[in-house]
Amino acid sequence: MIIKRFRAENFRNIEKCDIEFSPGVNLLYGKNAQGKTNVVEGIYYFSRGRSFRGREDKELIRFGEEGFRISLDFEDECGRESLEYAVFGKERLRKKNGYKINKVTEMIGSFKAVLFYPDNLGLVKDGPEERRSFLNIAASSCYPLYIKYYSDYKKALENRNCILKMMQKGLYIDRTELDSWSASMAEYASYIYLMREDYVKKLTVYAAEVMKEISDGSEELSIIYESNIASGITDRQNVKSEYERIFSSSLDREIAAGITLFGPHRDDLDIRINGIGARAFASQGQQRSIVLALKLAEGEVIKEICGEYPVFLFDDVLSELDDRRRRYVLEGRGDRQIIITGCNKAECIGFTDKEIEVIGGKYVSSHR
Ligand code: ATP
Ligand code: MG
Repeated sequence: MIIKRFRAENFRNIEKCDIEFSPGVNLLYGKNAQGKTNVVEGIYYFSRGRSFRGREDKELIRFGEEGFRISLDFEDECGRESLEYAVFGKERLRKKNGYKINKVTEMIGSFKAVLFYPDNLGLVKDGPEERRSFLNIAASSCYPLYIKYYSDYKKALENRNCILKMMQKGLYIDRTELDSWSASMAEYASYIYLMREDYVKKLTVYAAEVMKEISDGSEELSIIYESNIASGITDRQNVKSEYERIFSSSLDREIAAGITLFGPHRDDLDIRINGIGARAFASQGQQRSIVLALKLAEGEVIKEICGEYPVFLFDDVLSELDDRRRRYVLEGRGDRQIIITGCNKAECIGFTDKEIEVIGGKYVSSHR
């Protein structure tokens, strides 16, 4: 997957831009607060269906304006594609290849990108939500039905939690509604579990390979998917029965807590280096390496499942990597398009195919 062109109007600090990208390594460089990450944010919007920095579209509108427009031309196995998104007041306009589309879910899925940015370090050291969110985003770019199952699961979970809260307060005693939400949750959970299981199995192999390479063979990375299902159960009906059993057997505790205590919304990843838990024991450098390994592996899994590489977006992370890791990221990635941002052009000397200087929301390109 190769981005050809990104255009934006009244998006963040960009009044208007039209940037063409090279299929290789593209560097956006410039001083702080000039609009480097804004481009990455605009591009990644098409992969995720929302910004990775804020929840609300209105934050993305250039100060003093009423709306914004972003568009992306890219090339994949199907040929040239384009996506467009515009916001004006409460209006939203989405287009794919020039035709209007109604749902965000129709927009996401066609353009695939992997994003690595400084906050990603939370993946190793923060709580399980970060790792679940990583799993959700990564799995949804590989399995088209994942988002649907996950959002259906979340809806059922909300309803079940609501009933549990009422039962906790002694306000509700009819069990049939609760049972019906438990049954729906078990159904959706079984799909989510199996996709996550498959995903983590594939991810682990690639991530361990990258880790070995960047640590000169000294660090062995392992990732274990932690869920309520015992490993070895692979049949969907059996997974579903297992969730049904878990939901009914823990009911007394759940009523006492007023919340659902088990299920995919509580899953986690156990990340280890040389057998030791990374969350508690990995050094800063090791944490960076783990996240880098996970991000590069994320791209490999997309290639394995979908048949082509995503675009790699590295926002402001190069300066945190040592020479060996930086070289590993930038060298010999012939069939992968990379878009990097950074303040220091010198960090990338010899690796870039295109350099774009960013000054106050303006983009000036020069080819190597
Ligand atoms: P750094 O090197 O610090 O990461 P950057 O070049 O990546 O900087 P961006 O995050 O892309 O910087 O852009 C930040 C600039 O965009 C800031 O000057 C900020 O005030 C401005 N900005 C953010 N949102 C808006 C908006 N809605 N309207 C206008 N300007 C905005
Ligand atoms: Mg930035």
